[in-house]
Amino acid sequence: KAPTRTFFIGGNFKSNLNKDSLKELVPVIAKHQTAADVVIAPPALYLLEAQSIVEANNSKVKVAAQNISGKSLGAYTGEIAAEHVLDAGIEWTLLGHSERRSIYCESDEVVAAKTVDALQKGLSVILCCGETEHQRFVENRTKEVVTGQLGAVHKALEAANLVDKWSKIVIAYEPVWAIGTGKTASTQQAQDTHLEIRNWLTTISQSVADATRILYGGSVSAANSDELAKQADIDGFLVGGASLSAQKFLPIIDSAK
Ligand code: PGA
Repeated sequence: KAPTRTFFIGGNFKSNLNKDSLKELVPVIAKHQTAADVVIAPPALYLLEAQSIVEANNSKVKVAAQNISGKSLGAYTGEIAAEHVLDAGIEWTLLGHSERRSIYCESDEVVAAKTVDALQKGLSVILCCGETEHQRFVENRTKEVVTGQLGAVHKALEAANLVDKWSKIVIAYEPVWAIGTGKTASTQQAQDTHLEIRNWLTTISQSVADATRILYGGSVSAANSDELAKQADIDGFLVGGASLSAQKFLPIIDSAK
């Protein structure tokens, strides 16, 4: 395990929780001692509340938006801009989650443009990628799909002269068929794809490949996190369902190597 890559645990609350359950959960996560970087992504309406809870606890835990508009401030009804996220004192955003891609039709190009916008304005990005069940098991083109998603981002970064901003990106590899299904990629399937991603990163540079954290996501639980965490190219997790309860989430944080 490369000692330079601090283990990273993301909690993606998705469109879950309410005021009361958030106020119960976030302080427990904020107070939990760990050497890992922990970032939680609550629903947009609760970003300010979550941020004030971690600040009040002097916690190292960071807050992330789950999405940004990718536009400037202006006439974009229903959207939250990077400027708003930064104004709330928040440093991170998720981008390209498979639910954004599939349900809200965000193409590789849209995700790439949002990534450029986030990085230009000063946010760090948890950039999600991952293949569908059909793409892996029928078409056998996981590597092509995942490197295509990441490649679209790299192309946009090159065009914007932002290649050095790879240092502000954490990649989350989330096989779509493993998200919320209880089906986890096997440790070997996950490690193999993480290694393919790391090999692809060497085409940018060896230092980007060495430094970039690659998280695994998809039905991560306390039952599988220790084994997954041992893999050479797994540098953390992006956790959905299990991040909604401290009882389930804290043991996953504790699997940090
Ligand atoms: P899950 O979700 O842990 O509930 O599978 C992971 C994710 O979508 O980030």
